[in-house]
Amino acid sequence: MMFSLRSATNFQFLLRHTPLFALALSLALSAGCRTAPRPGAAAPRTGDEIMVAGQLFHIGTRVVLWTEPGGYDAYRVERRFSPIEKADWKTSHEEVKDLSSPNRYNIRKSSLTPEQLEEVRGGGWDLPMLQQVVDQFVIHFDVAGTSRQCFKVLHDFRDLSVHFMLDVDGTLYQTLDLKERASHATISNSRSVGIEIANMGAYGSEEKSPLADWYKHEGNGQTTLTIPEKLQGGGVRTKNFVGHPAKPTPVKGIIQGRELIQYDYTPQQYEALTKLTAALCKIFPKMTCDYPKDASGKLIPHKLPDDELHNYHGVMGHYHIQTNKVDPGPAFQWDRVIGNAQKLMTGGFTPAVEETSKGGARSKL
Ligand SMILES: [Zn+2]
Repeated sequence: MMFSLRSATNFQFLLRHTPLFALALSLALSAGCRTAPRPGAAAPRTGDEIMVAGQLFHIGTRVVLWTEPGGYDAYRVERRFSPIEKADWKTSHEEVKDLSSPNRYNIRKSSLTPEQLEEVRGGGWDLPMLQQVVDQFVIHFDVAGTSRQCFKVLHDFRDLSVHFMLDVDGTLYQTLDLKERASHATISNSRSVGIEIANMGAYGSEEKSPLADWYKHEGNGQTTLTIPEKLQGGGVRTKNFVGHPAKPTPVKGIIQGRELIQYDYTPQQYEALTKLTAALCKIFPKMTCDYPKDASGKLIPHKLPDDELHNYHGVMGHYHIQTNKVDPGPAFQWDRVIGNAQKLMTGGFTPAVEETSKGGARSKL
């Protein structure tokens, strides 16, 4: 029907005399504005998202992506911390013998058909295909102390990569999309997501240990994390952060049959890890929110037999995969992380970090 002067007049008449019609029209127009963003309109992040196959997922705690200022980008081929004129791949390859490829990551290809591999080799994955492939979450300690140091070791010296780094203040860094096969856990690389948690590690009584440089026992029974001065703050994102291990005295325990001693992780790390764990177990349906247990329900503190490892799908330590590894160590509180992550997944847990010192971070998330 043609739009005539007469119909325009009828339209104005309707607007004037039927308030309901005017209301319906304005609602329709405003809804239209919301669903059709203008070209060039920004789509802001809120800052708690991780990236999985190009999609963003909220996890409820601060995440610094590799694309952000202050982030760590595992896609780059040059060294991050060498002098810039020597950072290019060719010079890096010549100077560091352990760097064998400009890419510190690869394609998750072990369980793909040739047709699927052809689909993803250009870089693209859809989420359902990735959900079929990823079923393990591997937890490491970094023996670097802070995430900046960790990235330096992995990327500039070791030819390695990991999806997440968790710093002492609870800041979570994602260094590449979870569609990538990061190099952190040998035979589990193709099927796993990895995280390096900032912590100086676990030591036997016969070993030389750096722990005395990193922890100071206060007179009041508390223990403070003391990042050595040569690291210039270690790159910790929270200004003036003062960290404390969740337990004030070092924890002893047996991993791979060896008695080890280790300081606990910080409450901020436990809180962020719990949220990430819950999110990953939601995003990847094949990943069970649990850790390796024996028949009596106790933690298995050593490498899983090959067939059990093959069949295991859930959260695990690096030591469940390799006999030469002991991370995340005897101090790691599996029940705290898994128990609270399970509650988060069902909506029954509201994490809160208790204020442990004047400088300590406080969160009610
Ligand atoms: Zn490890």
